[in-house]
Amino acid sequence: MNRIKPLDVSDSSANKNTAISQIVQALLERKIDENKDRLNELSTLRFVEDNLPLYKQNLEKRKNAYALLSEEERILRENRIAAIKNLSYEQRLPWTNTLTLENTNNFLTTLPLSLLNISNLEKLDYSDQNNVILPWQFDNEWNWVHGSIRNVPFALSEEEIEKDFQTDKKYPLMKEYYKRGFMLIGRTSQDWKTIYQTSVSPHVSKNDEAIEAYQKHVLVHEFFHTIFAKFRDIPNANTLIIKFKDGSTSTFAEWRNAFLLSMKEEPLYTTKYASIYDKDMIDISNGEKGQDAYWLEEQLCESLTAYYLDIAPNEYWWTSFEEFNFWNNDQQKRSKRYQLISDFYNADFEVIE
Ligand SMILES: [Zn+2]
Repeated sequence: MNRIKPLDVSDSSANKNTAISQIVQALLERKIDENKDRLNELSTLRFVEDNLPLYKQNLEKRKNAYALLSEEERILRENRIAAIKNLSYEQRLPWTNTLTLENTNNFLTTLPLSLLNISNLEKLDYSDQNNVILPWQFDNEWNWVHGSIRNVPFALSEEEIEKDFQTDKKYPLMKEYYKRGFMLIGRTSQDWKTIYQTSVSPHVSKNDEAIEAYQKHVLVHEFFHTIFAKFRDIPNANTLIIKFKDGSTSTFAEWRNAFLLSMKEEPLYTTKYASIYDKDMIDISNGEKGQDAYWLEEQLCESLTAYYLDIAPNEYWWTSFEEFNFWNNDQQKRSKRYQLISDFYNADFEVIE
């Protein structure tokens, strides 16, 4: 992080102008440093490695909760997952570090039937399993140009990396960023029916268990996209009715807006990944359409995943989603974010045609 020099007020105005432009430059450099750090998956995987016992324990809890369900409920979930036609597209290669199909199938049964029933998920696609996804274009402050990606073959040797990047003269530093862990993991198709499994680069982690735990985080995140995307626009957001456990109801549009307002009161992001979708970049008062809704959806997907696991990689190193308050104004013990996300996760749903 750059240190900003204090402004010397005793100088002439020309010197003051120079001092001001130096401050502006230092602020820009600090912003660039922060933005680069947001994209760095090295610290994300380090967080998972450091907290691996907790990840395993929390994943086990979800698995045990499934085992304790009535047989009827278990069969309904299994049937729902079996009804997803062609769940696997292409075989998983044994040397990649994506989740296996069997692992994925078993894992999906730990999600509530109410959520499985409103998901668009139809396919798990392994055609990108041999790739690592790099965010590819950045503006001059190093904000990622959303959607710009490049696939880099997984597990390249040093010489192969050198060769692969030689042709990309436009981005001469990208090779270094690949090694440093600037990458995205997993993605969902434009029609929100297919989740693509992608690998975690060995430059980022060599811990197979930590990689598996984070791949599960990514799968839950992508799963929520397969629910939310079709309700992104306001007319569609009004067709999803949430029936909360306490008997009250709300439209998805209303609940999403409550979540947006809670983020203004609780300014910290749930995860470092969520902070890529920086609220400073856009006007969040208009959080109901286009890019804004997409920004908000990323926050929802990360927060629901944090709820599912009760832990998610973050720069404050908190280890319980339930216990962290995201620096809310009144320092309540439990965050509004937790309450809203918990209400949604445990609700029933109805879609009005
Ligand atoms: Zn996402």
